[in-house]
Amino acid sequence: MTVGILALQGDFEKHAAMLERIGTPYREVRKVADLASVDALIIPGGESTTIGRLMARYGLDVAIRERAQQGMPIYGTCAGMILLAKEIAGSSQERLGLMDIAVIRNAFGSQIESFEADLPFKPFADRPVRAVFIRAPIVSRVGVEVEILSEFNGKVVAVQQGKLLATAFHPELTDDERVHRYFLSLIEQRV
Ligand code: GLN
Repeated sequence: MTVGILALQGDFEKHAAMLERIGTPYREVRKVADLASVDALIIPGGESTTIGRLMARYGLDVAIRERAQQGMPIYGTCAGMILLAKEIAGSSQERLGLMDIAVIRNAFGSQIESFEADLPFKPFADRPVRAVFIRAPIVSRVGVEVEILSEFNGKVVAVQQGKLLATAFHPELTDDERVHRYFLSLIEQRV
């Protein structure tokens, strides 16, 4: 099993470091050919307009959509969540549009660049996750097939739709491996 990490822009190296810690083989995905050899894909945080534009330029948007339709699990953090969303408030930027959610970018305001919080995360009843938010989006609408995994002050910040997982925060910037391990568990699961 090999996990792909979309490596066009953003904090993909942090995801690579996390997968290395867990001991999961991974490869960086920069072109369509790289996708063929991966069983799942992580879309990192970064600048969603830039990542979206580069994805479209290299034909990766079409290729990723096709793999998603065949059941490939995808996990998006922050900008990755924005790229997975069907709707992005006030923006026509390039996106994958695979999840039936609407997002609002930079939803915590420009004053608050970043902050951290301990949040309950539905799959882990025992211990909250340390959530690092950096100019993070929120989810403002969820479709009927979307499960809410985590909320912060009544705002939805983590969702799952089948094998698609998205968090507004960055577990790759903490030493908590559980969200990544949860994502890896989706690769084996039949949904
Ligand atoms: N605000 C960024 C965007 O809208 C996302 C920030 C992040 O990924 N940390 O693309």
